[in-house]
Amino acid sequence: MGMSHSPITQINHQALADQIKSWGLELGFNAVGISDVDLSEAGAYLNQWLAKQYHGEMAYMSRHGSKRYTPDEMIPGTLSIISVRLDYMQTDLTPYQQLLNQPDKGAVSRYALGRDYHKVIRSMLKHLALKIEAEVGPFGHRVFTDSAPVMEKAIAEKAGLGWIGKHSNVLNSKAGSYFFLGEIYTDLPLPVDEKASYHCGSCTACIDACPTQAIVAPFQVDARRCISYLTIENHGEIPLEFRKAMGNRIYGCDDCQMVCPWNKFTQDTQVADFLPRHQLDAPELLALFSWDEAQFLKNTEGSPIRRIGYAAWTRNLAVALGNAPKDVAVVDALQNKKAQTDDAMVLEHLEWALGEQLAL
Ligand code: SF4
Repeated sequence: MGMSHSPITQINHQALADQIKSWGLELGFNAVGISDVDLSEAGAYLNQWLAKQYHGEMAYMSRHGSKRYTPDEMIPGTLSIISVRLDYMQTDLTPYQQLLNQPDKGAVSRYALGRDYHKVIRSMLKHLALKIEAEVGPFGHRVFTDSAPVMEKAIAEKAGLGWIGKHSNVLNSKAGSYFFLGEIYTDLPLPVDEKASYHCGSCTACIDACPTQAIVAPFQVDARRCISYLTIENHGEIPLEFRKAMGNRIYGCDDCQMVCPWNKFTQDTQVADFLPRHQLDAPELLALFSWDEAQFLKNTEGSPIRRIGYAAWTRNLAVALGNAPKDVAVVDALQNKKAQTDDAMVLEHLEWALGEQLAL
């Protein structure tokens, strides 16, 4: 789908870019930058990563070919990209690090505790586009957030929002890495920002901390080893070799971000929608495990967790319960769930967990 081009009027694009940034901040984004559409460097990197099969079963990563790193091929007419950052962390929650030492509780990645960020960011980006339209008239644009064909990390780096760290997330020297990204592809020829400079230096904290050694080299995450991938993107079984290392991580994994020295600069989110629901910041594993499918669907309404579905949710909880301290209540719960389950993949994880609980 192409864009209808903006009318050629006397737009002062420098002034407009400044306005876009201040509107973005007024709307609640924590940073706004502008990138051009040359993502060829990131594209070359992506192709190497795909060639090594590091994307696992995320087939969508290899779809779209060069359109991913050639934005004006995907959306003809795109001349610049507005990149936004939205912080999600709340620093006074039970620290994630502490949770990892409470094996009767579940650790949910901090980005997934509240309302689904796709909805929040998409609506904010649409507001920003409306403000631009009110200024310049109808213009060609498309909004994205966490959308498969968009290389949002490379765009954010080019737009000056932060650099891509060795763990492959974007981070910033004033705000750490606990934020979401979103983009507006536009046909406005906006002046671009300077690419963010790189400040990982000789640090290797994230590489060393990864529970499954998924960061196989700086900037190279083998998704097939990554707990975030294994618990969220992966719909099948969790390979045996990673189950112990998963510990009590039931949805995603924050370890590489948790140890990053730049995250001491984390700022609290201003978005009330991101505050935790259902005590997901420090939930009891058995309480979550007691949800049947209807309760799961109800309790995760509007949450990103819902997208993995009940089978993967039960699978993840089973692994965490297998790793939990031995407890007759856990054994009972696993046996009850077994009696109610006919999904072979889930059953195998329940049996594994029972084996762990009952081992001498
Ligand atoms: S932990 Fe160290 S190497 Fe990893 S992203 Fe942070 S600064 Fe970079």
